[in-house]
Amino acid sequence: MMRVNVTQPFLPPIEEFYAEIEKIWDKKWLTNAGPLENELSSSIQQYLKVENVDLGVNGHIALENILLANDLKGEVITTPFTFVSTIHAIKLAGLTPVFCDINDTDFTMDVTKIEALITENTSAILPVHVYGNPCDVSEIDRIAKKHNLKVIYDAAHAFGVEINQKGIGTFGDASMFSFHATKCFNTIEGGCITYSDQKLEKKIKLLKNFGIENEEEISMVGRNCKMNEFQAAMGIVNLRYIDDCITKREVICRKYNSFFEKYDWIKTPNYTNANIKYNFAYYPIILENGALTRDELYAKLAEKNVYSRKYFWPVLNELDIFKECVGETPVAAKIGRNVLCLPLYSEMEEETIEYVLETLRNILD
Ligand SMILES: *Cc1c(COP(=O)(O)O)cnc(C)c1O
Repeated sequence: MMRVNVTQPFLPPIEEFYAEIEKIWDKKWLTNAGPLENELSSSIQQYLKVENVDLGVNGHIALENILLANDLKGEVITTPFTFVSTIHAIKLAGLTPVFCDINDTDFTMDVTKIEALITENTSAILPVHVYGNPCDVSEIDRIAKKHNLKVIYDAAHAFGVEINQKGIGTFGDASMFSFHATKCFNTIEGGCITYSDQKLEKKIKLLKNFGIENEEEISMVGRNCKMNEFQAAMGIVNLRYIDDCITKREVICRKYNSFFEKYDWIKTPNYTNANIKYNFAYYPIILENGALTRDELYAKLAEKNVYSRKYFWPVLNELDIFKECVGETPVAAKIGRNVLCLPLYSEMEEETIEYVLETLRNILD
Protein backbone atom coordinates (compact mmCIF):
# COMPACT_ATOMS: atom_id res chain seq x y z
CA MET A 1 0.00 0.00 0.00
CA MET A 2 1.28 3.44 -0.92
CA ARG A 3 2.11 5.79 1.98
CA VAL A 4 1.18 9.44 1.57
CA ASN A 5 2.37 12.06 4.05
CA VAL A 6 0.57 15.32 4.59
CA THR A 7 3.59 17.18 3.29
CA GLN A 8 7.07 16.67 1.90
CA PRO A 9 9.81 19.30 1.82
CA PHE A 10 10.95 20.60 -1.54
CA LEU A 11 14.52 19.58 -2.40
CA PRO A 12 16.16 21.14 -5.47
CA PRO A 13 18.45 19.30 -7.92
CA ILE A 14 21.46 18.43 -5.78
CA GLU A 15 24.03 19.68 -8.36
CA GLU A 16 22.65 23.19 -8.05
CA PHE A 17 23.01 23.02 -4.28
CA TYR A 18 26.61 21.71 -4.58
CA ALA A 19 27.48 24.64 -6.84
CA GLU A 20 26.40 27.09 -4.15
CA ILE A 21 28.13 25.11 -1.39
CA GLU A 22 31.42 25.26 -3.31
CA LYS A 23 31.29 29.04 -2.99
CA ILE A 24 31.24 28.60 0.79
CA TRP A 25 34.44 26.53 0.61
CA ASP A 26 36.07 29.10 -1.70
CA LYS A 27 35.31 32.03 0.59
CA LYS A 28 35.60 30.16 3.91
CA TRP A 29 32.69 32.20 5.22
CA LEU A 30 30.08 30.17 7.11
CA THR A 31 27.87 32.68 8.89
CA ASN A 32 27.52 36.35 10.04
CA ALA A 33 26.15 38.32 7.05
CA GLY A 34 27.98 36.23 4.46
CA PRO A 35 27.84 36.76 0.70
CA LEU A 36 25.16 34.12 0.14
CA GLU A 37 22.92 35.59 2.83
CA ASN A 38 23.30 39.00 1.22
CA GLU A 39 22.47 37.60 -2.20
CA LEU A 40 19.42 35.77 -0.88
CA SER A 41 18.30 38.83 1.03
CA SER A 42 18.11 40.99 -2.09
CA SER A 43 16.44 38.22 -4.11
CA ILE A 44 13.80 37.78 -1.42
CA GLN A 45 13.29 41.51 -1.14
CA GLN A 46 12.48 41.57 -4.86
CA TYR A 47 10.37 38.43 -4.84
CA LEU A 48 8.25 39.56 -1.89
CA LYS A 49 8.08 43.11 -3.33
CA VAL A 50 8.98 44.64 0.04
CA GLU A 51 11.15 47.61 1.03
CA ASN A 52 13.05 46.13 3.95
CA VAL A 53 13.84 42.53 4.76
CA ASP A 54 16.01 40.84 7.34
CA LEU A 55 16.82 37.13 7.17
CA GLY A 56 17.25 34.97 10.25
CA VAL A 57 17.68 31.49 11.62
CA ASN A 58 13.96 30.68 11.74
CA GLY A 59 10.54 32.27 11.60
CA HIS A 60 9.72 31.98 15.28
CA ILE A 61 12.71 34.02 16.47
CA ALA A 62 12.05 36.55 13.72
CA LEU A 63 8.58 37.08 15.17
CA GLU A 64 9.95 37.51 18.70
CA ASN A 65 12.47 40.01 17.39
CA ILE A 66 9.85 42.13 15.60
CA LEU A 67 7.87 42.35 18.82
CA LEU A 68 11.02 43.33 20.74
CA ALA A 69 12.19 45.80 18.09
CA ASN A 70 8.88 47.66 18.34
CA ASP A 71 9.20 48.03 22.14
CA LEU A 72 5.68 46.73 22.68
CA LYS A 73 4.09 46.58 26.12
CA GLY A 74 1.01 44.98 27.62
CA GLU A 75 -1.55 43.16 25.48
CA VAL A 76 -1.41 41.92 21.91
CA ILE A 77 -4.61 40.90 20.13
CA THR A 78 -4.11 37.70 18.15
CA THR A 79 -5.96 34.52 17.16
CA PRO A 80 -5.97 31.03 18.68
CA PHE A 81 -6.27 29.46 15.21
CA THR A 82 -2.58 29.36 14.40
CA PHE A 83 0.58 27.38 14.99
CA VAL A 84 1.62 27.57 18.64
CA SER A 85 4.74 29.57 17.74
CA THR A 86 2.66 32.75 17.35
CA ILE A 87 1.54 32.70 20.98
CA HIS A 88 4.91 31.55 22.33
CA ALA A 89 6.53 34.53 20.59
CA ILE A 90 4.09 36.95 22.24
CA LYS A 91 4.70 35.38 25.66
CA LEU A 92 8.47 35.19 25.28
CA ALA A 93 8.55 38.86 24.30
CA GLY A 94 6.99 39.59 27.70
CA LEU A 95 3.53 40.37 26.31
CA THR A 96 0.02 39.08 27.02
CA PRO A 97 -1.93 37.42 24.21
CA VAL A 98 -5.63 38.32 23.94
CA PHE A 99 -7.58 35.98 21.69
CA CYS A 100 -9.83 37.33 18.95
CA ASP A 101 -12.14 34.95 17.10
CA ILE A 102 -11.74 34.08 13.42
CA ASN A 103 -14.27 34.24 10.60
CA ASP A 104 -15.58 31.01 9.11
CA THR A 105 -14.85 31.89 5.48
CA ASP A 106 -11.07 32.13 5.34
CA PHE A 107 -10.28 31.52 9.05
CA THR A 108 -8.36 34.79 9.50
CA MET A 109 -9.09 37.22 12.36
CA ASP A 110 -12.73 38.35 12.51
CA VAL A 111 -12.21 42.09 12.12
CA THR A 112 -15.65 42.89 13.53
CA LYS A 113 -14.53 41.49 16.89
CA ILE A 114 -11.21 43.31 17.31
CA GLU A 115 -12.37 46.63 18.74
CA ALA A 116 -14.27 45.07 21.66
CA LEU A 117 -10.97 43.54 22.82
CA ILE A 118 -8.95 46.76 22.81
CA THR A 119 -8.10 48.09 26.29
CA GLU A 120 -5.74 50.83 27.50
CA ASN A 121 -3.07 48.11 27.73
CA THR A 122 -3.29 47.01 24.10
CA SER A 123 -0.18 47.84 22.08
CA ALA A 124 -0.52 45.75 18.93
CA ILE A 125 -2.61 43.46 16.74
CA LEU A 126 -0.95 40.26 15.52
CA PRO A 127 -3.16 38.62 12.88
CA VAL A 128 -2.17 35.47 10.97
CA HIS A 129 -2.50 34.99 7.20
CA VAL A 130 -3.53 31.46 7.99
CA TYR A 131 -3.06 28.85 5.19
CA GLY A 132 -1.79 31.78 3.09
CA ASN A 133 -5.25 33.44 3.14
CA PRO A 134 -4.71 37.19 3.40
CA CYS A 135 -6.34 38.91 6.37
CA ASP A 136 -8.64 41.89 5.84
CA VAL A 137 -5.61 44.17 5.82
CA SER A 138 -7.43 47.43 5.09
CA GLU A 139 -9.92 47.06 7.95
CA ILE A 140 -7.14 46.01 10.33
CA ASP A 141 -5.16 49.05 9.23
CA ARG A 142 -8.13 51.34 9.86
CA ILE A 143 -8.69 49.97 13.37
CA ALA A 144 -4.98 50.13 14.23
CA LYS A 145 -4.68 53.76 13.10
CA LYS A 146 -7.79 54.76 15.04
CA HIS A 147 -6.42 53.24 18.27
CA ASN A 148 -2.74 53.93 17.66
CA LEU A 149 -1.73 50.27 17.61
CA LYS A 150 1.06 48.49 15.75
CA VAL A 151 0.15 45.73 13.31
CA ILE A 152 2.48 42.77 13.03
CA TYR A 153 1.49 39.92 10.73
CA ASP A 154 2.37 36.29 11.14
CA ALA A 155 2.87 35.61 7.43
CA ALA A 156 4.58 32.25 8.01
CA HIS A 157 2.17 30.60 5.55
CA ALA A 158 2.01 33.43 3.05
CA PHE A 159 5.27 33.42 1.06
CA GLY A 160 4.54 34.82 -2.41
CA VAL A 161 0.96 35.90 -1.67
CA GLU A 162 -0.06 39.28 -3.13
CA ILE A 163 -3.07 41.57 -2.86
CA ASN A 164 -3.60 43.77 -5.94
CA GLN A 165 -0.01 43.01 -6.99
CA LYS A 166 1.33 44.26 -3.66
CA GLY A 167 3.45 41.87 -1.64
CA ILE A 168 1.64 40.60 1.46
CA GLY A 169 4.67 41.66 3.52
CA THR A 170 4.06 45.33 2.74
CA PHE A 171 0.95 45.54 4.92
CA GLY A 172 1.03 46.59 8.56
CA ASP A 173 4.21 47.64 10.38
CA ALA A 174 6.00 44.33 9.92
CA SER A 175 5.53 40.69 8.93
CA MET A 176 7.26 37.42 9.65
CA PHE A 177 7.74 34.71 6.99
CA SER A 178 8.90 31.19 7.82
CA PHE A 179 11.27 29.25 5.56
CA HIS A 180 10.91 26.02 7.54
CA ALA A 181 11.31 22.75 5.61
CA THR A 182 7.54 22.22 5.45
CA LYS A 183 6.67 25.66 4.13
CA CYS A 184 6.14 26.56 0.43
CA PHE A 185 9.64 28.00 0.27
CA ASN A 186 12.37 26.61 2.53
CA THR A 187 15.93 27.34 3.56
CA ILE A 188 15.90 24.07 5.62
CA GLU A 189 15.16 26.24 8.68
CA GLY A 190 14.95 29.98 8.32
CA GLY A 191 12.73 32.98 8.17
CA CYS A 192 12.59 36.72 7.68
CA ILE A 193 11.14 39.95 8.93
CA THR A 194 9.76 42.46 6.45
CA TYR A 195 9.08 45.94 7.79
CA SER A 196 8.06 49.40 6.71
CA ASP A 197 10.01 51.71 9.04
CA GLN A 198 13.61 51.75 7.84
CA LYS A 199 14.69 53.15 11.22
CA LEU A 200 14.12 49.69 12.72
CA GLU A 201 16.95 48.21 10.65
CA LYS A 202 19.71 48.77 13.17
CA LYS A 203 17.73 47.40 16.09
CA ILE A 204 16.68 44.30 14.18
CA LYS A 205 20.32 43.61 13.26
CA LEU A 206 21.47 44.13 16.87
CA LEU A 207 18.75 41.90 18.28
CA LYS A 208 19.88 39.02 16.10
CA ASN A 209 23.59 39.32 16.85
CA PHE A 210 24.05 39.79 20.61
CA GLY A 211 23.61 43.57 20.40
CA ILE A 212 27.12 43.86 18.97
CA GLU A 213 27.55 47.35 17.53
CA ASN A 214 31.24 47.00 16.70
CA GLU A 215 34.37 45.40 18.12
CA GLU A 216 34.28 47.47 21.28
CA GLU A 217 30.63 48.33 21.85
CA ILE A 218 27.65 46.20 22.87
CA SER A 219 24.72 48.58 22.79
CA MET A 220 21.78 46.37 23.71
CA VAL A 221 20.79 42.92 24.93
CA GLY A 222 20.35 40.49 22.05
CA ARG A 223 20.56 36.87 21.04
CA ASN A 224 21.99 34.81 18.23
CA CYS A 225 19.38 34.54 15.47
CA LYS A 226 21.55 34.67 12.36
CA MET A 227 21.02 32.75 9.14
CA ASN A 228 24.06 30.71 8.08
CA GLU A 229 25.48 30.32 4.59
CA PHE A 230 24.21 26.76 4.11
CA GLN A 231 20.67 27.92 4.77
CA ALA A 232 21.19 30.82 2.38
CA ALA A 233 22.59 28.45 -0.29
CA MET A 234 19.44 26.33 -0.04
CA GLY A 235 17.30 29.45 -0.28
CA ILE A 236 19.12 30.76 -3.36
CA VAL A 237 18.52 27.49 -5.20
CA ASN A 238 14.96 26.96 -3.96
CA LEU A 239 13.92 30.47 -4.95
CA ARG A 240 14.58 29.47 -8.59
CA TYR A 241 11.80 26.89 -8.22
CA ILE A 242 9.23 28.74 -6.14
CA ASP A 243 6.95 29.80 -9.00
CA ASP A 244 7.02 26.29 -10.39
CA CYS A 245 6.23 24.87 -6.93
CA ILE A 246 3.25 27.19 -6.52
CA THR A 247 1.92 26.26 -9.98
CA LYS A 248 2.19 22.55 -9.17
CA ARG A 249 0.41 23.10 -5.85
CA GLU A 250 -2.35 24.97 -7.66
CA VAL A 251 -2.94 22.04 -10.03
CA ILE A 252 -3.36 19.68 -7.06
CA CYS A 253 -5.64 22.06 -5.15
CA ARG A 254 -7.87 22.43 -8.21
CA LYS A 255 -8.03 18.64 -8.58
CA TYR A 256 -9.16 18.38 -4.97
CA ASN A 257 -11.71 21.14 -5.55
CA SER A 258 -13.31 19.43 -8.54
CA PHE A 259 -13.32 16.10 -6.69
CA PHE A 260 -15.20 17.64 -3.73
CA GLU A 261 -17.81 19.42 -5.87
CA LYS A 262 -20.37 16.66 -5.44
CA TYR A 263 -19.92 16.51 -1.66
CA ASP A 264 -21.76 19.66 -0.74
CA TRP A 265 -21.41 19.06 3.02
CA ILE A 266 -17.65 19.43 2.76
CA LYS A 267 -16.35 22.97 2.58
CA THR A 268 -13.25 23.51 0.46
CA PRO A 269 -10.97 26.49 -0.13
CA ASN A 270 -12.10 28.82 -2.87
CA TYR A 271 -9.60 30.71 -4.92
CA THR A 272 -12.09 33.10 -6.44
CA ASN A 273 -10.80 36.52 -5.42
CA ALA A 274 -9.17 37.86 -8.58
CA ASN A 275 -7.29 40.52 -6.57
CA ILE A 276 -5.36 37.88 -4.65
CA LYS A 277 -2.37 35.93 -5.86
CA TYR A 278 -2.64 32.70 -3.86
CA ASN A 279 0.25 30.43 -2.90
CA PHE A 280 -1.76 27.22 -2.34
CA ALA A 281 0.17 26.50 0.86
CA TYR A 282 -2.40 24.13 2.44
CA TYR A 283 -5.57 22.32 1.50
CA PRO A 284 -7.92 22.54 4.51
CA ILE A 285 -11.42 21.06 4.30
CA ILE A 286 -14.22 21.54 6.84
CA LEU A 287 -16.55 18.65 7.67
CA GLU A 288 -19.72 19.87 9.27
CA ASN A 289 -23.02 18.14 9.96
CA GLY A 290 -22.20 15.51 7.40
CA ALA A 291 -22.10 11.77 7.12
CA LEU A 292 -18.70 11.63 8.74
CA THR A 293 -16.85 13.58 11.42
CA ARG A 294 -13.39 15.03 10.94
CA ASP A 295 -11.87 12.52 13.34
CA GLU A 296 -13.54 9.62 11.50
CA LEU A 297 -12.23 10.79 8.14
CA TYR A 298 -8.74 11.28 9.62
CA ALA A 299 -8.76 7.71 11.00
CA LYS A 300 -10.17 6.11 7.84
CA LEU A 301 -7.55 7.83 5.69
CA ALA A 302 -4.80 6.70 8.07
CA GLU A 303 -6.02 3.09 7.72
CA LYS A 304 -5.20 3.42 4.04
CA ASN A 305 -1.82 5.02 4.77
CA VAL A 306 -2.98 8.52 3.82
CA TYR A 307 -1.81 10.92 6.51
CA SER A 308 -3.77 14.12 6.88
CA ARG A 309 -3.35 16.62 9.70
CA LYS A 310 -5.75 18.17 12.23
CA TYR A 311 -4.28 21.59 11.61
CA PHE A 312 -5.06 23.60 13.75
CA TRP A 313 -6.31 21.53 16.63
CA PRO A 314 -6.52 21.96 19.51
CA VAL A 315 -7.07 25.68 19.14
CA LEU A 316 -4.56 27.39 21.38
CA ASN A 317 -6.80 28.94 24.01
CA GLU A 318 -7.89 25.39 24.90
CA LEU A 319 -4.35 24.53 26.01
CA ASP A 320 -3.59 24.55 29.73
CA ILE A 321 -0.50 26.70 29.23
CA PHE A 322 -2.60 29.57 27.81
CA LYS A 323 -5.75 29.11 29.85
CA GLU A 324 -5.37 32.39 31.75
CA CYS A 325 -5.58 34.34 28.47
CA VAL A 326 -8.87 36.07 27.71
CA GLY A 327 -11.10 36.04 24.62
CA GLU A 328 -14.14 33.95 23.65
CA THR A 329 -13.60 32.27 20.30
CA PRO A 330 -16.51 29.96 19.40
CA VAL A 331 -15.86 30.01 15.65
CA ALA A 332 -12.22 29.03 16.12
CA ALA A 333 -13.32 26.23 18.45
CA LYS A 334 -15.78 24.92 15.85
CA ILE A 335 -13.38 25.15 12.90
CA GLY A 336 -10.64 23.53 15.00
CA ARG A 337 -12.92 20.53 15.62
CA ASN A 338 -13.93 20.15 11.97
CA VAL A 339 -10.87 21.05 9.91
CA LEU A 340 -8.57 18.60 8.19
CA CYS A 341 -5.57 19.45 6.01
CA LEU A 342 -5.13 16.96 3.18
CA PRO A 343 -1.80 15.86 1.68
CA LEU A 344 -0.31 18.59 -0.48
CA TYR A 345 3.21 19.23 -1.71
CA SER A 346 4.64 20.43 -4.98
CA GLU A 347 6.32 17.17 -5.99
CA MET A 348 3.20 15.06 -5.32
CA GLU A 349 3.07 12.61 -8.20
CA GLU A 350 0.05 12.00 -10.40
CA GLU A 351 -0.42 8.48 -9.03
CA THR A 352 -0.15 9.73 -5.45
CA ILE A 353 -2.91 12.30 -5.84
CA GLU A 354 -5.01 9.70 -7.71
CA TYR A 355 -4.51 7.28 -4.82
CA VAL A 356 -5.61 9.93 -2.30
CA LEU A 357 -8.70 10.80 -4.36
CA GLU A 358 -9.64 7.16 -4.82
CA THR A 359 -9.24 6.55 -1.09
CA LEU A 360 -11.43 9.55 -0.35
CA ARG A 361 -14.03 8.35 -2.87
CA ASN A 362 -14.19 4.93 -1.22
CA ILE A 363 -14.66 6.49 2.20
CA LEU A 364 -17.15 9.20 1.24
CA ASP A 365 -19.42 7.39 -1.23
C1 LIG B 1 5.87 27.65 10.80
C2 LIG B 1 5.15 28.69 11.57
C3 LIG B 1 5.80 29.53 12.50
C4 LIG B 1 7.21 29.33 12.95
O1 LIG B 1 8.14 29.36 11.94
P1 LIG B 1 9.51 28.52 12.10
O2 LIG B 1 10.29 28.96 10.90
O3 LIG B 1 9.16 27.08 12.09
O4 LIG B 1 10.17 28.95 13.37
C5 LIG B 1 5.04 30.54 13.08
N1 LIG B 1 3.75 30.73 12.79
C6 LIG B 1 3.09 29.93 11.93
C7 LIG B 1 1.65 30.21 11.64
C8 LIG B 1 3.75 28.87 11.32
O5 LIG B 1 3.09 28.05 10.49
